[in-house]
Amino acid sequence: MKALWAALLFLLSAVFTACGLPTEWLGDAPPPPMETGVTVNVLAVGQGDAILIRTAEQTILIDTGDTSETGRLREALKKEGVRRVDKLIITHPHRDHIGGAATVFRFCDVKEVYDNGQPTSTNVYRDYLKTIQKKEIPSRTLRDGDVLDLGGGATLRVLSPTQEMVDERGMQNGKVNLNLNSIVARLEYGEFAMMLTGDAEAPTEMGILKRYAPELLRCRLLKAGHHGSKTASCSKFLQALEADAVLVSCGANNEYHCPHPSVLTRYEKQEMDVYRTDQDGTLTVRTDGKTYTIETERNK
Ligand SMILES: [Zn+2]
Repeated sequence: MKALWAALLFLLSAVFTACGLPTEWLGDAPPPPMETGVTVNVLAVGQGDAILIRTAEQTILIDTGDTSETGRLREALKKEGVRRVDKLIITHPHRDHIGGAATVFRFCDVKEVYDNGQPTSTNVYRDYLKTIQKKEIPSRTLRDGDVLDLGGGATLRVLSPTQEMVDERGMQNGKVNLNLNSIVARLEYGEFAMMLTGDAEAPTEMGILKRYAPELLRCRLLKAGHHGSKTASCSKFLQALEADAVLVSCGANNEYHCPHPSVLTRYEKQEMDVYRTDQDGTLTVRTDGKTYTIETERNK
């Protein structure tokens, strides 16, 4: 009988010891790495914008490049292994931002769509709406003050447009200027922030300066508004951002002469480093919420 108790006690102690010492029990294999951080790829898609953001939990695509650059967009998404887009955000319905939407819908599983809700009469815009309806993808408009949860501790704070701006349809000198109502948003992760501006121009930038406190404007990085055109990146806006660097998405030898030399001078005055997709290829920002790095596809 004594021998039986001794055997039972030995067995029980062996089990508890094993439970208390999982490393010995499981061997020396290290624990799986924690998925943290945020990566932003400003994709080289010629004259247009396509910005891929990945958090620990979600994949977000802001704009989709031009209709003429869908091959490049598809290649870039394939290279990055993107099959699912949790949030597709279209800053405004110009072709160089919405042009690759059909490609994204075709090759990726798009879970949600966000735009500024300002319609336009182009076929590419109509096809975009039709696809959203046909695939029954939940969609909603973004307004200043909205905050989107991007998962993994990252958020996207929308700074523009306001409802009033959309109601006025971005009228400028008697004409509709779709750029003015571009979605402008601040990507926030820990102490890191990046301003994403679509094609917002100076009047939009000035409106943001009026509506928001300085601490909500300061950021480490700026995605240049309107591809570095002289109608955007006004000096007051740049001063308020206090950004270290600017990332310009533009095509090689583009017909609009972006980024404009006067804008490059403004960046220089603010002591901002300049990265350009036409010269550097796809730009990759990685952040742990404290510091960040910028890698260029081509050597600087
Ligand atoms: Zn554009």
